[in-house]
Amino acid sequence: MNIKSIKAFGTEAPEAELKQLDINRRAVSTKDVEIDILYCGVCHSDLHFARNDWGFSVYPVVPGHEIVGKVVAIGEGISKFKVGELVAVGCLVDSCRECNNCKNDLEQYCPEYVGTYGGHDKHLDMNTFGGYSESIVVDEDFILKIPNNLDLAGVAPLLCAGITTWSPLQHWNVGKHSKVAVIGLGGLGHMAIKLADALGADVTLFSRSPNKTQDAMDLGADRVVISTDEEQMAAVMGHFDLIIDTVPYAHDINPYVGTLNTNGTLVLVGYLGPLDPMLHSVPMILGRKAVAGSLIGGIAETQELLNFCGKHNIISDIEIINIQDINKAYERMLKSDIKYRFVIDMKSLKG
Ligand code: NAP
Ligand code: ZN
Ligand code: ZN
Repeated sequence: MNIKSIKAFGTEAPEAELKQLDINRRAVSTKDVEIDILYCGVCHSDLHFARNDWGFSVYPVVPGHEIVGKVVAIGEGISKFKVGELVAVGCLVDSCRECNNCKNDLEQYCPEYVGTYGGHDKHLDMNTFGGYSESIVVDEDFILKIPNNLDLAGVAPLLCAGITTWSPLQHWNVGKHSKVAVIGLGGLGHMAIKLADALGADVTLFSRSPNKTQDAMDLGADRVVISTDEEQMAAVMGHFDLIIDTVPYAHDINPYVGTLNTNGTLVLVGYLGPLDPMLHSVPMILGRKAVAGSLIGGIAETQELLNFCGKHNIISDIEIINIQDINKAYERMLKSDIKYRFVIDMKSLKG
């Protein structure tokens, strides 16, 4: 198969900084679309993966799964997309297409799903490389249309931070009568607040950071509860139908379970790993409360989210950076020093 060498930014080891690398992209085949990448969002998962926090990274790693760009070439079998069109790619670039999850638009739960980075590219029999790169070649079934009223750079984070919070809001039927809480005001958290607010829910932010209170209210929260303040926590006991927990590191979720209403659910989207301290079953049993998990969203659901954002004029609050500043951006993300998503202007890579 023909390949093309392009410029990317990535890392060759967990402790190494990201730097410019050359990577290969496959030539466009019948069902492929080649996209010139204009913007790529910076997700906390990019940092986890670059630094092998989850233990399964394969190097070199080229992160980036919040991609927007312009179609520059299409395969002979493409009818949905045209050269010149603005399109988006999120966290998935392929799946088996045959399992029950694939048939039910839940490609993210397909046992053979292919992540935009760190997955296995069956065409080239190598790792997939993400959006910190000049261009990407993707099967048309995994490409999204962008509503034309939205700012392109602000759209990028919808492809992961947006869909990861939208999917549980949809699955647990959040609407006008729902009481939703979000734990952590970062990339995912700020999208969760905007989306839950647009769905008409009553929205609360749990945060460690009192200095984010005004921002949370401006984003659409109805109240902020400082999670380290016992009195504030006690005031919301038994309150929420759904809590979306976006915290990236091990933390005690037991105090939050107590704030669920009967039949309420706390859905973990942030931290991957064993809970520490352990989950206490008593508050769950006494109130038929659930603790669940959720992974990004399927392709159809991601398109629904983009259409919803178009209709409600929702984009992410972003800070645009050059690719050369990515290592500094990671350090700032670790300090929660970002309002509320970095987006890389890929012109900086192309020079
Ligand atoms: P982020 O922008 O860094 O935001 C995380 C927020 O969590 C911070 O702003 C902070 O909010 C809070 N926080 C950070 N460290 C904490 C700690 N040690 N204890 C308590 N709170 C802490 O990250 P993100 O991009 O939103 O991603 C969040 C997590 O979701 C990451 O682990 C990422 O890998 C994961 N993720 C999962 C999926 C999925 O499909 N399930 C998809 C995308 C990302 P406050 O200052 O308000 O407390
Ligand atoms: Zn992500
Ligand atoms: Zn499948």
